[in-house]
Amino acid sequence: MVKLLDIVGQDSAVALLQRRMAADRMGHALMFTGAHGVGRRTTAMALAATLLCAKPVTTQNQGEFAELDDGFELTDACGQCNSCRTLQAGSNPDLTVISKEMAAFHPDPQVRSRKMQNLGIDVIKHFLIKGAYLAPSGGKGKVFIVREAELMTGAAQNALLKTLEEPPSGVTIILLCKRSEQMLPTTISRCHAVQFGPLPFDFVAESLTREEFDESEANFWAMFTNGSVGRSLSLARSEMYQVKCDMLRDIAAMGPGGDASLGERLQKVTDSQATAAVKAAKSQDKAELSKSLATRRATGTMLELIAAAFGDAISLATGSDRPLANADQRSVIESLAQRKTIRQLAGVIEKLSQYEQLLWRNVNSKIVWDNVVLTCG
Ligand SMILES: [Zn+2]
Repeated sequence: MVKLLDIVGQDSAVALLQRRMAADRMGHALMFTGAHGVGRRTTAMALAATLLCAKPVTTQNQGEFAELDDGFELTDACGQCNSCRTLQAGSNPDLTVISKEMAAFHPDPQVRSRKMQNLGIDVIKHFLIKGAYLAPSGGKGKVFIVREAELMTGAAQNALLKTLEEPPSGVTIILLCKRSEQMLPTTISRCHAVQFGPLPFDFVAESLTREEFDESEANFWAMFTNGSVGRSLSLARSEMYQVKCDMLRDIAAMGPGGDASLGERLQKVTDSQATAAVKAAKSQDKAELSKSLATRRATGTMLELIAAAFGDAISLATGSDRPLANADQRSVIESLAQRKTIRQLAGVIEKLSQYEQLLWRNVNSKIVWDNVVLTCG
């Protein structure tokens, strides 16, 4: 179990939580916002452990948190009590982590058979609202963590409003979402916001090198994902790095007018990435991932990778001191920068984002790739 004071790279979020705990005004509803993979869920779990711990430990801040005075009393879970031990084992009855996949455990077979694209009112009512009114088993209270809260339907959010505003005593609800604008204003106004910024690049890169990925690959993903450990690891594990290196090399080597065979090759790569993603989702027991959704995602990621390369080319062409994401393929970026004017480079990025939107309108991925190749040539 990661403890609250061991969270890395999110000092201001943890300091804010510490300040609220010390002032005894944690609030019953919190909204953790930030990009995928920056530590929102880990921090929510650590906070839950601290709130439910039978014997929380206190230490004094000695420079660990620049935001807090030295000597400020910091609170953390003990890691030893029954609550801490069951929480670590994933069996603490006073902690409920809610996700869209929980529809599969709903008592109503109709809810179970529905596609799990969003967090519907049935899941929120049964697992959160009803659960909040059941007495805690440990006596200290209950914590509910809602993952991907932005997927809550309007009806689910409306049903939750009253509980967010006046939860039963001892209940804390933590909503995790990427951006608060994705939630209804009425939900936002009832929650205390805690923002999670991007993680330091070095920390993200180190998390990857610890998993035996090369330093150049680790640095690339840290920059590309703008400091998200979760997304970096998932991209690295999907072997997208080699795809990226080959793809950019081929795009840079292409003459004006493009290379028709490249479009076809890239489409095949997308297809095998999608097949692998579907298989991985199945083996990890995640909600079913359709081939068409996986294809759109893989294509979207590859378009994003090409756009990042053209962004790097603009940096080079304008003499900006922004570090290149593709520092590992500097010569490729140089040749892209020489091929077009700055305005044309920016035009490519804009076109790529239009192609990505076409994907979601069910435009055939072959057509998309043919256009991408023409645009980049
Ligand atoms: Zn404890």
